[in-house]
Amino acid sequence: MLRTLAATHPDAHCELDFTNPLELAVATVLSAQSTDKLVNSVTPAVFAKYPTALAYAQADRAELEEMIHSTGFFRNKANSLIGLGAAVVEKHDGVLPHTLEELVALPGIGRKTANVILGNAFDIPGITVDTHFGRLVRRWGWTQEEDPVKVEHAVGALVPKRDWTIVSHEVIFHGRRVCHARKPACGACSLSADCPAYGTGPTDLMKAAALVKGPSRPHLLAMAGVPDDSAPPAAPGEDQDAP
Ligand code: SF4
Repeated sequence: MLRTLAATHPDAHCELDFTNPLELAVATVLSAQSTDKLVNSVTPAVFAKYPTALAYAQADRAELEEMIHSTGFFRNKANSLIGLGAAVVEKHDGVLPHTLEELVALPGIGRKTANVILGNAFDIPGITVDTHFGRLVRRWGWTQEEDPVKVEHAVGALVPKRDWTIVSHEVIFHGRRVCHARKPACGACSLSADCPAYGTGPTDLMKAAALVKGPSRPHLLAMAGVPDDSAPPAAPGEDQDAP
């Protein structure tokens, strides 16, 4: 399944835009209850206005709230960012720390966020258990645990440590594009032969294909052996089976 996941999602990556660890920490705080796309639409202006931890610590609350308003829960998030900036300045000389223990001690940084930061900004392997990840690994029987920390440990024991970050991205990509919560695209899924939950969603090829999403949809369908229904029809007289 790991091999199939890697071949299915060669484009898997952190979908939040950032250029340094502090920016990724801010983006992950903003991503709670929001979408990566929405977060990416506000962060260029936020990163430009607040380039350092000290800038967040000294931010005008109303101004910061206004800038991040569209991501939701903006008051809590502004609190977290101002507190995060202050704590990084006070305890870490303005530099974001790079251990799980130090990161989770910062305001607004939970274990999931800390693992995202470790894996993507510091190249330290981390498993990110978000809603997609938990749902998929339970469907696959990799674990039956519900608690994210227990899921992290259970999957960590199955997957080589060096692959923790990329496998997290691949699983989350699969959850966003193919194995949806309510209607997984079982009939158009590259993992169907190995998946104990095959049949949770439609198994009919074309019905399932209609559920597959994202820019790499033709590749995802090809990996599952489903004809790409968005490909242009053959020209009249053209023999599609011709060598
Ligand atoms: S076969 Fe269905 S349940 Fe299993 S991974 Fe694929 S889409 Fe998800």
